[in-house]
Amino acid sequence: MIITDTHTHLYSEAFDEDRDDIMKKAIQAGVERFFIPAIDSTYTKAMLDLESNYPENVFLMTGLHPTHVKDNFKEELAHVEQQLENRKFYAVGEIGIDLYWDKTFLKQQQEAFVHQIRLAKKHRLPIVIHCRESFDEIFEILEQEKANDLYGIFHCFTGTLEQAHKAISYNMKLGIGGVATFKNGKIDQFLDKIDLKHIVLETDSPYLAPVPYRGKRNESSYILNVLEKLSIIYGKTKEEIAAITTENSKEVFSI
Ligand SMILES: [Zn+2]
Repeated sequence: MIITDTHTHLYSEAFDEDRDDIMKKAIQAGVERFFIPAIDSTYTKAMLDLESNYPENVFLMTGLHPTHVKDNFKEELAHVEQQLENRKFYAVGEIGIDLYWDKTFLKQQQEAFVHQIRLAKKHRLPIVIHCRESFDEIFEILEQEKANDLYGIFHCFTGTLEQAHKAISYNMKLGIGGVATFKNGKIDQFLDKIDLKHIVLETDSPYLAPVPYRGKRNESSYILNVLEKLSIIYGKTKEEIAAITTENSKEVFSI
């Protein structure tokens, strides 16, 4: 069984004390593919270090996270652009709009999102979307930028069934993680109405740990708890869910 964690911040300070143990534990559990979303340029070195320690397992993205879109966002976007020119990345992410923490930079967040969508198209890469209290704003931009060569993942999908269908209509897969295991997570109520071919698994570690670890530091091996929950929702074995979602991740990231 090969499990793919399509969204894990393994370079985070949260793992500075025990990163190798966490990696080993996940790999032993069957998680062999880790897709690593970017935040901003301050993490670039840590991401490259992680990749050089685990070249077989770790696949990097580059991008500017919406909560890190500040006054210096043009410099940060130039960094993303330069990275894309320099070497191989597997996606532009995570990018999008976040109105939960702060609405001050909404205009800049929108501009950065559009700019990075266009970079992804130019480099023929998928995008990985971060959407928090911003479905309308995200869909407005996807509607404007939609194209055959725009595709990717709606990371940590937490919307309604209708929003799920809408995201899928823009060539997006739904990234499903710990929220599916929460009592009040809501998506578990309708996920069985979404064909598994649209689903990929993720942890978003160190955030959003699934039940029974909710509130604690998340790690990639906990994806097994998400897998377990999906096997109940879809009435399929964990092996089947792992195989299908890993196949889906290959389709998105072309590896
Ligand atoms: Zn993330």
